[in-house]
Amino acid sequence: MIGRGPWNGKEKRVLIAGNWKMNGLSASLWEVGAIVRSLKASPAGVDVPVCPPATLISRVAAEGIGVVAAGGQDCAVKPSGAFTGDLSAEMLADAGATWSIVGHSERRQYHGESDDLVAEKAKAAWRAGLGAIICLGETEAERDAGRELDVVSRQLAGSIPDAAGGAKTAIAYEPVWAIGTGRTATESDIQKMHAHIRAVLVNRFGTAGAKIDILYGGSVKPDNAKPILAVPEVGGALVGGASLKSVDFLAIIRSAPARR
Ligand code: PEP
Repeated sequence: MIGRGPWNGKEKRVLIAGNWKMNGLSASLWEVGAIVRSLKASPAGVDVPVCPPATLISRVAAEGIGVVAAGGQDCAVKPSGAFTGDLSAEMLADAGATWSIVGHSERRQYHGESDDLVAEKAKAAWRAGLGAIICLGETEAERDAGRELDVVSRQLAGSIPDAAGGAKTAIAYEPVWAIGTGRTATESDIQKMHAHIRAVLVNRFGTAGAKIDILYGGSVKPDNAKPILAVPEVGGALVGGASLKSVDFLAIIRSAPARR
C-alpha cells in the first residue's frame, strides 16, 4: 500500500484532510506553499492531504512534495470512456493525487449518489492506487428522529466495500447538518458515533477494522479542533471551509496529537 499511516506498517499518524470544494484558483496555491513552509520548518507529524478542485491537483502535488499530499474530491467508477465531464481515479493519480474523497454529502445530496455508487467509487480509488476517504453522516431530520445510528449503520454497510480492511481507507463521519453551518456535534455525540462506527468496523473486518481511521468532519475550526481531535476514536478531521486559509488550517493541524 502507498502512503504513510497504518497501511504500510509505519506509525499511525493523525490525518487532517482539507476539502476545498468548488473553491480555489491559481492564487490559492500560495496557501499550500505557506502550509508547506510552516510544516517543513516545524513538522507536525500529521498526514495532510489537501483536496483542491481537479484543476489544481497537479500543482498542489508539486507544491506539497513530502509534506502535503494532493487528493481528489470525487472520482468516477470507470477508468476511462465516454463519460463527459467525469474524472477517473486513474486520472487523479496521474495528476499526482494519492487520495480521493468519495461519498461526500454534497455529492450524495446534489448528484443523487447512492451507497452502492459510493462503494464502487471507493473501489475505483483503490484500483488506481489512491486512498479512499469515504464520507457518511446523518441529516438533521434523521438525528431529530433519533435515527442517526441506524442511518450511519446503513451507510457503513452500503458504502464500504469488503476490501476496505486491506486497503488505504479512512471513514469520515460528517453529520450533514454540521457541514458548512458553523455547528458541530457535541464531543459526547462524536464519541458515541465514532465508538459505534468502530464497533461496526471491528465486527466486520476484525483487527483490520480496528486500524481504519475515523475522521470527524463538520465545521472543524481552529477554536474547536483540539477538543474534537482528543475525543476517543477520532483519528483526524475532514476540514472544509477552514482548509482554505493556511493560517486556520495550520492551527487545526497543530491542534492534532502527533500520533494515536
Ligand atoms: C466538508 O466539506 O467535508 C466539511 C466538513 O466542511 P466544513 O468544514 O466547512 O463544515
